Amino acid sequence: MDFTLSQEDQELVSLIDRIGAERFQPKAFERRNQDGHPIDNMRLLGQLGILGICLPVEYGGQGRDALSGVLAIEHIARWCPRTSISATMAIAGPGMFIAKWGTEQQKARYLPMIHTGEGNMSIALTEPQAGSALTDLATHAEIRNGVCRLNGHKTFCSHAGWDRHVLVFCRFAPGTSGIGAVIVERDSPGFTISKPHYHISGTPWWELFFDNAEVPEENVLFAGGGFRKLMSSYSLERCAAGASSIGIAQAAFEMARQYSIERKQFGRPICDFQLIQEKLANMYLALEQARLLLYKAVKGGQGSLGRLESSAAKVAATEAAVFVCDQAMQIFGGSGMSREMPLEWMYRIVRTATVAGGTSEIHRGMIASEIVGRRFNHRAG
Ligand SMILES: Cc1cc2nc3c(=O)[nH]c(=O)nc-3n(C[C@H](O)[C@H](O)[C@H](O)COP(=O)(O)OP(=O)(O)OC[C@H]3O[C@@H](n4cnc5c(N)ncnc54)[C@H](O)[C@@H]3O)c2cc1C
Repeated sequence: MDFTLSQEDQELVSLIDRIGAERFQPKAFERRNQDGHPIDNMRLLGQLGILGICLPVEYGGQGRDALSGVLAIEHIARWCPRTSISATMAIAGPGMFIAKWGTEQQKARYLPMIHTGEGNMSIALTEPQAGSALTDLATHAEIRNGVCRLNGHKTFCSHAGWDRHVLVFCRFAPGTSGIGAVIVERDSPGFTISKPHYHISGTPWWELFFDNAEVPEENVLFAGGGFRKLMSSYSLERCAAGASSIGIAQAAFEMARQYSIERKQFGRPICDFQLIQEKLANMYLALEQARLLLYKAVKGGQGSLGRLESSAAKVAATEAAVFVCDQAMQIFGGSGMSREMPLEWMYRIVRTATVAGGTSEIHRGMIASEIVGRRFNHRAG
């Protein structure tokens, strides 16, 4: 197997590493409690064509494969975790759903805003009673006389309070099995949004309320019957979450490696102690194994990736990142536990990634289902 990156991907990675070191890293830690997307970084990434790297060329994107997308996210994350979270949504989020399944009108309206960094779109799947059991979602839509009316309640929607649009997954007509998706604009009548809540990472999330919320019928992406297709596009976002986690963990690893060389105890650098060496070796192994699974899952893909490979990549990458950041904190000793140092924040970010985008348990279930060759029924009764 050839593990060499193409010339184009090598150039992409060195461009991001250059702007990351010069422009992103100096302010990265300050951004941990920032209100709003890191819009200056997003605009720069937009101008360089990086936010639209996987979007179709006809709509201003670069039409490159999923490997270029995850490489971009991984390298952005090394320099600025906060920017990588926003960039993940732009590169691998709702824009990819619209590019694949949207009408020409939807693509022309929304994709340019996404790839320039001017109009991020959030995604609303989770409901208070439908988290892992997504097919239980109760938010429903009805189309009449050219208007789509939504009723329901969504939760845990990252960034929704900052974004102009949200892609809402809903059932078409209550009690039916057809799940589809609708693009809802922020100022739509009947659509309200809670005050912000916060994940342990400091990233905000909002609850969304739809009370006969009205959007034009043209905003409907799938009027039911689209659940499988929509979820197949979600696999890129899962791999992207893995890429962001690996990028953050790589930065933690570099910090710990350097610290182990500089920090002296008992008159010697702490990297002279075999127990520290073991940690560094295990961190390296975890990162490299996860990265290989991730690149294998996305290489040559264009959005709809293999279920087995993308679940495996997501679990391996996010769990490796938790392990690596945890070990990096340990190598830093007391400083690793300090809120004045970025490591504990980096740990908190990667820790949330084992739940966001489907929990590790749900992805292990999907892996087992692919291995055994049948779907398991989790439903009671
Ligand atoms: C940082 C972050 C960002 C998020 N962003 C968004 C977003 O932008 N939009 C959005 O819609 N949602 C978002 N979410 C929500 C996320 O998708 C859900 O939290 C996740 O799918 C789990 O759902 P739940 O919280 O209801 O947990 P539950 O489904 O209630 O699960 C609770 C526990 O039970 C386990 N469990 C459940 N079913 C099974 C099973 N069949 N087998 C084994 N174990 C099981 C789970 O793994 C978990 O450990 C985000 C979450 C986080 C943490």
